[in-house]
Amino acid sequence: MKAPIATCRTILVVGGGISGMTAAIEAAECAQEVILVERSPTLGGRTALLYRYFPKMCHPGCGLEINLRRLQGNRNVRVLTMTEVVRIEGKRGAYTATLKIRPRYVNENCNACGECASAVSDEIPNPYKYGHGKTKAAYLPFALAYPQRYVLDPSLIGTEDADKAQAACNVGAIDLTMQEQTVELAVGAVVWATGWKPYDAAKIQPYGYGRFPNVITSVEFERLADPNGPTGGKLLRPSDGREAKNIAFIQCAGSRDENHLRHCSRICCMATLKHTQYVREAHGDAAKSTGYYIDIRAIDRFEDFYQMVQKDATVTFVKSKVASIEQAENGDPVLYGVDTEGYHRYASAYDLVVLAIGMEPEANGIALPDDVITDSSGFIEGSADGGMLGAGSAASPLDVNRSVQSATGAALRAIKVIHQTVAEEA
Ligand SMILES: Cc1cc2nc3c(=O)[nH]c(=O)nc-3n(C[C@H](O)[C@H](O)[C@H](O)COP(=O)(O)OP(=O)(O)OC[C@H]3O[C@@H](n4cnc5c(N)ncnc54)[C@H](O)[C@@H]3O)c2cc1C
Repeated sequence: MKAPIATCRTILVVGGGISGMTAAIEAAECAQEVILVERSPTLGGRTALLYRYFPKMCHPGCGLEINLRRLQGNRNVRVLTMTEVVRIEGKRGAYTATLKIRPRYVNENCNACGECASAVSDEIPNPYKYGHGKTKAAYLPFALAYPQRYVLDPSLIGTEDADKAQAACNVGAIDLTMQEQTVELAVGAVVWATGWKPYDAAKIQPYGYGRFPNVITSVEFERLADPNGPTGGKLLRPSDGREAKNIAFIQCAGSRDENHLRHCSRICCMATLKHTQYVREAHGDAAKSTGYYIDIRAIDRFEDFYQMVQKDATVTFVKSKVASIEQAENGDPVLYGVDTEGYHRYASAYDLVVLAIGMEPEANGIALPDDVITDSSGFIEGSADGGMLGAGSAASPLDVNRSVQSATGAALRAIKVIHQTVAEEA
């Protein structure tokens, strides 16, 4: 692959979730050259892994599709998937970014016909289902993936299956000789839109995540409820495949806790309120959702959504920080704690427990340039010289709407950096 042409007037956007896509499009639509790099094989980020959006309960595909159409129609933006930033050197208006591009083993000829996937038998844990379910090792990440191009998992290379995939492709799209590449780019400003990751629930030892199969996280629950998820949208519990009708949701799992994440992740309350409606959708009046909470943080017009859920007879709220979870012999998780309104102890059994897990900055796991400043939780504030900016949930735990606003602001500030540099040079 040829290195993309970039200059000090180019904006580099790192991360192709809803925030990175937004920053790239907004800048490109202002006639700015943009390179958008995404680590995974597709754009969309974690938004693409949600079943529905609060507060309107529409499918995330709607918002993503609009952005994809804008991206595809704009010649100022160049998208590089399977690409990571290795290093950034220089200063505001004159950075050199070193990128590492991993091989996809599938070239631009791919028409997403799926013949390669049919030809191979090897399977891998599905990276788009939070470890639940498997996918063929030649796969399209999901229906709305962009680019609409299959990817071969590196474990296939050198196996008979790789040759079968190549033989099955009628358009010469499989290229087993592809190698990792390193390219250097000159860019004027950098927008970090690297997003968030779910806090590791296994670290909250008393809740038994990883030990008790019927204790899952909120992000896993999103996939469970989705017809494109591992259970075809049925709320089946992992231990025995039984339908889960009586479900407990634990708020602030890992958030607002000195031992875990100190910050409030802001969206977890709304995610749980939304999840109770997934249970209602699945089971109607037979559904039973119980939310254990410290306090419910439903800001702005989200309050309407909260009030709507409060009126739902299938939903009960218990003001309590759950102390611990044990597993009964039949696999039911049993919650122990004290209800701080009635001050009585409870030991309550459920079919399934969902931990409303906190949002941790993804940047906590990557090497950022030295001059990038982060807050005490690791969210990106930007660089001291103003040439690098944080956007969306990389900068703060935000819902989609606020991520888009943050990314639009970051795009504007990046454009300003470029224009100031050009003016200084003149
Ligand atoms: C359980 C749950 C339910 C939610 N439900 C809703 C909802 O209903 N409505 C709502 O508005 N919000 C919801 N949210 C919040 C929503 O998921 C976020 O607002 C959204 O994902 C933020 O998008 P983003 O682009 O900032 O980050 P992300 O979605 O995390 O995207 C970041 C992208 O950057 C890429 N990346 C990361 N590191 C690198 C790197 N080093 N190099 C290149 N690329 C990189 C990642 O692969 C990813 O594609 C929910 C959150 C949770 C936890």
